[in-house]
Amino acid sequence: MPKSLPGRASQAPILALFFALLLAGAPLPGQAQARWSAVPEGHPRTAAEANGFTAHTRHLEMWEYLHALRGVSTGMRLGTYGRTREGRDLPYAVFSRPLVTEPWEAWTLGRPILVLAANVHGGERTFREGLLILMRDLATPGTAAHALLDRVTVVVAPQINPDGFEASLGGQRGNSWGIDLNRDYIKLEQPSIANYVGSVISKWRPHLFVDGHNGGSRPYNLNYQCPSHVDPAPAITLLCDREIFPAIDAKLASEGYKSWYYTGGDEEEWRVGGWQARIGRNYGGFLNSVGILFEAPRQSLEVGARAGYLGYLAVIEFAATNADRLVGVVTEATRETIAMGAAPSGQVTVEMRYEAEDYPVSYEIVSGGGRGSDPDQPEEILRVENARLMKKPVAVRTRARPWAYVLPRDAVDAVAMLRRHGVVVERLSQPASLEVRAYTVAGVTHERAYNHAAATKVEVGEVITVTEQFPVGTFVVPTAQNLGRLAAHMLEAETEDNVIYWNTMDAWLPRAAEEPPRGPSGNQANRSPRPPLVPIYKLMTPTPLATTLVRD
Ligand SMILES: [Zn+2]
Repeated sequence: MPKSLPGRASQAPILALFFALLLAGAPLPGQAQARWSAVPEGHPRTAAEANGFTAHTRHLEMWEYLHALRGVSTGMRLGTYGRTREGRDLPYAVFSRPLVTEPWEAWTLGRPILVLAANVHGGERTFREGLLILMRDLATPGTAAHALLDRVTVVVAPQINPDGFEASLGGQRGNSWGIDLNRDYIKLEQPSIANYVGSVISKWRPHLFVDGHNGGSRPYNLNYQCPSHVDPAPAITLLCDREIFPAIDAKLASEGYKSWYYTGGDEEEWRVGGWQARIGRNYGGFLNSVGILFEAPRQSLEVGARAGYLGYLAVIEFAATNADRLVGVVTEATRETIAMGAAPSGQVTVEMRYEAEDYPVSYEIVSGGGRGSDPDQPEEILRVENARLMKKPVAVRTRARPWAYVLPRDAVDAVAMLRRHGVVVERLSQPASLEVRAYTVAGVTHERAYNHAAATKVEVGEVITVTEQFPVGTFVVPTAQNLGRLAAHMLEAETEDNVIYWNTMDAWLPRAAEEPPRGPSGNQANRSPRPPLVPIYKLMTPTPLATTLVRD
């Protein structure tokens, strides 16, 4: 039986429907309705579909649905990429024609590889419902999504944070420890995100991945954003701005939905989300991948699920239709990364800000409803013309890119963090005397960052050139590698997301107000002729070195 909206609505208990409407708030003028296609005979429905979108599909209901889907489809692989802190299995599914199982099989097809994900914030669930429905279409011959699988490989990870989802009726943002997983992309400390990056992202190396959230601004049904840090290849962000986002806009508009940038604006300017590498979409840029954020502004669960469904589908359609273009942009960004390291050139940005893009934009905002001076003014949609879009990343301070970073042989925690991303690290197999660039430490401060009570920030004094003796076992991280942009960001002392900030180098750094060392007689010992150095040295020119690769 076709499951059209009126059919479902009439089945829903009146109270539940009332509750759903209450959750959604009063509908704005022109808000679209959700139009789903019929569920094929014998195919499973999500729990949310079955209950008329009055409640979400819970974790175990999702697994039941995915197993049922696998049971009626030959075009799908279903697996788990790890377990959460509370022991829940993290699901993923692969869809392609021919059906592949391992990443290398997908690479040999030469097609774009996409990873579509949702629910990294446990209480943000709307787009996950759309993604689960899209998985059924991907598994079902005859649908628009299934037809695209000759041209793309799609990996779906519909629930990154089930512990947060199940923590309470409404779910919570963090995982069971309260840690925000969408700020853990550099540390990779929490199992849900470490497994996702280790076993999905760095294993499949997607050309594009999407991360679905709840947030952003009405009257839009979907807000989006791409990498917005200065250092990822600008071509990736341009591809989003000029081609992928317009394709999403068109897809959503075809059913009366609206989409625009995350996060919100007023009558002068539209502001976007942060630029830090620890956020999924920005992290994607540092991997030379198109990392895309989706946010669901406040709307009914069913309308939001449909908007998310259309957004994810638009991305697959774009990748299928523009396969060479998408693969080309990512390949070129990677080639450029390796070239910038091989004959070191350019700068690593250590401080940045947003400025207005060079072009004006027009968008809609919601006014009234308690905003402004008149609390009784009803909500209305206001069209803003020729406003500023505050998302152009501009470097404020930079440091020269080295050929390699050199770390003490006992900096094993920093190296472990690099290796979790797949960064190439080598070790000296013979001692070497090297002329390196070093930073003097002018100050050290600490701040609370999630479960790090004293994340460490170093203030650099002078940049000096020294010749140091490096023993066997010293770590060397070349910047001429696929992940060269990420390695430089994690090893430059002053960036917001480096191995120093996440406390892996504390043992080498002077503590605040440290007493000068005293000799055996109680007099001050001979002071070092120079102030302490940041223990990450920079080898500025290509240098032959006897090294071996660090393997896990
Ligand atoms: Zn979120």
